[in-house]
Amino acid sequence: MSPTYDLNKIKFATGEATFQRAVNLYERGKVTNVKEAFGVYSAVVQGTKPYRVSVSGRRYKEVHCECYLGKRGTLCKHAVALALHAVMDGKPMRDEDKHYTSEIKRSDKREALSEEELAAVKTSITESMRYLKPYRGPSKTWFANQDSLQEGCNRLRAIISDLPVNRLSVDLLVKLLMRLEKKLSTGGVDDSNGIVGGLAGELVALLEEFARTDPACIDAFKPLCGKEYCFGWEEPLVRMFDRRDAKG
Ligand SMILES: [Zn+2]
Repeated sequence: MSPTYDLNKIKFATGEATFQRAVNLYERGKVTNVKEAFGVYSAVVQGTKPYRVSVSGRRYKEVHCECYLGKRGTLCKHAVALALHAVMDGKPMRDEDKHYTSEIKRSDKREALSEEELAAVKTSITESMRYLKPYRGPSKTWFANQDSLQEGCNRLRAIISDLPVNRLSVDLLVKLLMRLEKKLSTGGVDDSNGIVGGLAGELVALLEEFARTDPACIDAFKPLCGKEYCFGWEEPLVRMFDRRDAKG
């Protein structure tokens, strides 16, 4: 049986440092004696010493490891390395899959997306937004809730970093910014750790960059103007819009 989750799940749901260490263990062949039974993978992972590790093939993060962190219920690099082995079936990883998008990066693409590509992007944005769940308690669910926010933001970063620099993308990203604002202001998302706010800040910086590359993009900031948003993320974009209007 193959796991029900995929490589992207592992990547987006794991912190950067743990993911990179796990890739390193996996690539150096430190995941040994891999067995699968009843949808559970087990192995011996060679860390500072050999650890017996098991991970569920159904629910990522349902793991056991004998190491210090694992015993305390923290997702450790050994468990992630075994999960990688399970989804890769022991095969080498592609370079782009090892790369972790911890920040939005501007893509080099300029050409427009086809209608199908655009539809696919919109779908994956909507899917990622579902990870930005409201927090309703009880408090023991707090960390899982914040992990989910982080996963959603990581997924959005990967999508945004792949968008071409053009007006259509800017329209899409302005809408996304407004959706993020809505999630926080009325959607019950508790962002006291600033996870979603951090993403919004990166998104605004990217939009400024897009506008500098192609000033026609500034038109797309109009929906942000003349409204009072709670978080003020949009202010730099509104200023760009106003300045250009004053000149014109
Ligand atoms: Zn461990």
